[in-house]
Amino acid sequence: MHLLKQNAMDRKVLLSNGDPMGAAIYDYHRNGRAGTLVVMSSQFEDDEIPVEDLFRGIEDMPDLERLALESATGDILDVGAGSGCHSLALKEMGKKPVAIDISPLSVEVMKERGLEAYQINFYDESFVRKFDTVLMLMNGTGIIGNIGNIPTFFSRIRELLNPGGSVLIDSSDLRYLFEEEDGSIMIDLADEYYGQLDYRMKYVDAVDTDLEGVEGETFDWLYLDFNTLAYYAEENGFSAEVIAEGEHYDYLAKLILTD
Ligand code: SAH
Repeated sequence: MHLLKQNAMDRKVLLSNGDPMGAAIYDYHRNGRAGTLVVMSSQFEDDEIPVEDLFRGIEDMPDLERLALESATGDILDVGAGSGCHSLALKEMGKKPVAIDISPLSVEVMKERGLEAYQINFYDESFVRKFDTVLMLMNGTGIIGNIGNIPTFFSRIRELLNPGGSVLIDSSDLRYLFEEEDGSIMIDLADEYYGQLDYRMKYVDAVDTDLEGVEGETFDWLYLDFNTLAYYAEENGFSAEVIAEGEHYDYLAKLILTD
């Protein structure tokens, strides 16, 4: 095999290590189709994320996401940007997005799609740019991870926002998972918050065999109902407002600095 090709492949294998979603995104981008991105959790049965959904165009996006894109102004940071679908749509609208993601392969794909994209962890304080709009979509509260991390999340967005800037973030209230047939809700208040999940992902049936079976580590992922988000926003010097509600206990919220 040609040495250059060998190096490129070594690099891909190295990059895909522990990055199943990035592997799926990379596979789809390169080959126009992908295998199965499996989501596992100790709390739920295995599920799948359709990889083509991660490449949705503006016409395929739910109303909440379209509204977020329309509301985004000035310098925009797309956090956890994935394949870059929102940043691409923003660019088409003549806006100025910067995309970040922790997934190396996703960032490589976003760069190939012509975006200004960086492999950066949202919580990395050495990233010091400021933005007018911080966009966190497709259950944006997930990146908060768990309830205990909420203050760190707010102090980080405080660092990233220009004066007068705002965060547009979406989530769902998972209470419907606990609803009984009579409409009552069984939530054990002694348990941890009901929207706090642990996830693990695996990419299988890859088109590109180098990407087959890539698995990630377990991570915390938080679904926050709006009242809980608003409560913690206030505690941390922000106000939260619902911009729109979706059809399935989901909402888009705007967070603004109040102090
Ligand atoms: N916003 C995209 C992708 C959502 S999936 C879309 O709507 O299609 C969540 C993304 O967040 C993944 O790509 C994951 O790699 C990224 N992510 C998770 N934690 C992150 C963190 N701390 N900093 C930056 N990106 C993160």
